[in-house]
Amino acid sequence: VNRFTPSRQAALDRLNQFVPHAAEYTFNRNFADERCPGVSGLSPYIRHRLVSEAEVCRAVLDRHRFEAVEKFIQEVCWRTYWKGWLEMRPGIWDRYVEDCRRLRQQSHVGLAEAEAGQTGLECYDHWAQELIENGYLHNHVRMWFASIWIFTLKLPWQLGADFFYRHLLDADPASNTLSWRWVAGLHTPGKHYLARAENIRKFTGGHFNPHGQLNESASPLPQESPVPVVPLPDIPSTLDDDGRRRGLLLFAEDLSPESVLPPSFTIQGIAGGLSEPFSREKGPEDFTGAAIAESGKRLAGRFGCEFTPLFNGNRQEALKDWAARGGFEEIIIIQPHTGPWKTALETSPIPCPVRRIRRSWDSGLFPFASRGYFHFKKQGLQRIHERSISRP
Ligand SMILES: Cc1cc2nc3c(=O)[nH]c(=O)nc-3n(C[C@H](O)[C@H](O)[C@H](O)COP(=O)(O)OP(=O)(O)OC[C@H]3O[C@@H](n4cnc5c(N)ncnc54)[C@H](O)[C@@H]3O)c2cc1C
Repeated sequence: VNRFTPSRQAALDRLNQFVPHAAEYTFNRNFADERCPGVSGLSPYIRHRLVSEAEVCRAVLDRHRFEAVEKFIQEVCWRTYWKGWLEMRPGIWDRYVEDCRRLRQQSHVGLAEAEAGQTGLECYDHWAQELIENGYLHNHVRMWFASIWIFTLKLPWQLGADFFYRHLLDADPASNTLSWRWVAGLHTPGKHYLARAENIRKFTGGHFNPHGQLNESASPLPQESPVPVVPLPDIPSTLDDDGRRRGLLLFAEDLSPESVLPPSFTIQGIAGGLSEPFSREKGPEDFTGAAIAESGKRLAGRFGCEFTPLFNGNRQEALKDWAARGGFEEIIIIQPHTGPWKTALETSPIPCPVRRIRRSWDSGLFPFASRGYFHFKKQGLQRIHERSISRP
């Protein structure tokens, strides 16, 4: 956990360290040795938007030719693709949450050992411990881990996704749930991801070689029933300042709203810190809490107002008090994506008029996530290349 300092400055520092090496990413990114040298380590920051996808892409494109960093930008776009895809199919998230609740009430042979990293399968146990200790795993390791969980340990994919969600600093409803479904063969019907001993040996530099210990011939999981596809909500990407007295409510999903709000925009109060309405372990919860507190203070300085931490107590009451004390006529929020925060807003609405905003990155790219990643990549990357999606 110490590897990641929860602040915007730490996010920018990490980005600056990575940018000169971005062109080497294509060749190094699949190697998952102890130090993960080829990858950026930016996900806990991008996940909370301590630094945004647009800022990250702009920084690498300012330094390199598009072709040299295309692979890296494609990977950043996977996050956007998953988000847009889930936004149009919120039923997948609802079903996952319900499945987790149901499966948690049943007993599963080997689940406790899998969650403790005590299965006897050396590589898997090592990664489970690493996840618990660091709150981070390399992408290739996440793929192997999920595949072993589903096809070798034969545990329900939903509980594996839940295990990840509780421990990852970058836990993300879209990237996590949909990647687990992808490994299981539920995203692209009939296409699953099988971890192979030889691949693990090669990309861990010979550190692990689980030859003969993995199920390398499993079939994909049976298909789930489809969920309805819903239109993307129409949320503006700009705000005009009509002089109203307003508060800004921070969500853990977007902690750099200064890059979205117009420079002259006025805010009279900032609040944030409501704890995640979904179960997580203490390390990730502390990371998120500290990131919110740091951002609240930073933004309070920027807008010349007060930051009110809302870490304890009843969510609705705390918000009502804050809005009443500030005399706010409206509350600004950056619309959370499909996941626990959006559900919480729908089930217990903010007790005050709310104005929502969505980043133009999301508005511009989400519509291309209606189908497979190939379609998204073709349309989205072209726009990023042309810099027609240039605002945050
Ligand atoms: C089973 C499984 C579960 C996952 N769960 C999560 C999760 O909860 N939260 C999360 O942020 N990512 C998740 N990922 C995606 C990916 O593994 C991480 O984003 C990546 O490992 C983060 O490390 P990095 O920033 O060093 O990656 P880099 O390789 O440096 O990538 C740069 C950025 O691109 C994006 N990115 C890269 N690969 C992917 C990918 N496969 N899918 C989506 N975005 C990607 C991330 O924003 C990342 O920060 C999961 C992948 C798998 C296979």
